[in-house]
Amino acid sequence: MLRLAIQKSGRLSDDSLNLIRECGISFVNSSLKLKTESTNFPLEILFLRDDDIPGYVADGVADIGIVGENVLVEEGKQELVVERLGFSKCRLSLAVPKGTDYTSLQDLQGKSIATSYPNLLQAYLQEQGVEAHIHTISGSVEIAPSIGLADAICDIVSSGSTLISNGLREVERIFKSEAVLISNSNLSEEKKEILAKLMFRVHAVQRAQK
Ligand code: ATP
Ligand code: ZN
Repeated sequence: MLRLAIQKSGRLSDDSLNLIRECGISFVNSSLKLKTESTNFPLEILFLRDDDIPGYVADGVADIGIVGENVLVEEGKQELVVERLGFSKCRLSLAVPKGTDYTSLQDLQGKSIATSYPNLLQAYLQEQGVEAHIHTISGSVEIAPSIGLADAICDIVSSGSTLISNGLREVERIFKSEAVLISNSNLSEEKKEILAKLMFRVHAVQRAQK
């Protein structure tokens, strides 16, 4: 039996479950249960917070998982990627209050930036030769400038409407993300065979969608 970790409830959940179903894998899904077993494929599904998925897969608590690349790379676990899945596409961007003068990243030199992605942000600033104070906060990043917590933010954007409704302007796109399938690197032979069967079906689903 292969153990798959997916997000319990959030922006990855529906598309993750749909992919499994499109692979012809049936299971009973109760919103109260944190674990379910497929009735027609050797797969067990764990429902977790997305942030915990890379760690659980790396440690072997789960064998495989579905998570956003933004979270995976932030946690330094990009080596676990098996396949890009093409959904939950978004980007990590820098944004400033819309009245702020901004011509280049140099304008953020010495400024403070609020984010939930300190590692991705730090790597980008370093590569660009800019030093800024990074305030790590776990949520509601968009309100940080308006409450005086930071001069700019670095957050996940898809349509950009959340930024606009918070009076912010996107100024740099620093990372592109989509959902990825990840795997523990020490699967047993038996689990590798199940994963190969699963990937065969995933590829068929992907081909059918093109
Ligand atoms: P959890 O409670 O599991 O920790 P969360 O609040 O951290 O959830 P979500 O907002 O559900 O996370 O986002 C999960 C992932 O979906 C993100 O890490 C990102 O990869 C992707 N994502 C986030 N926002 C969007 C968006 N607006 N459009 C598409 N994908 C997004
Ligand atoms: Zn999360």
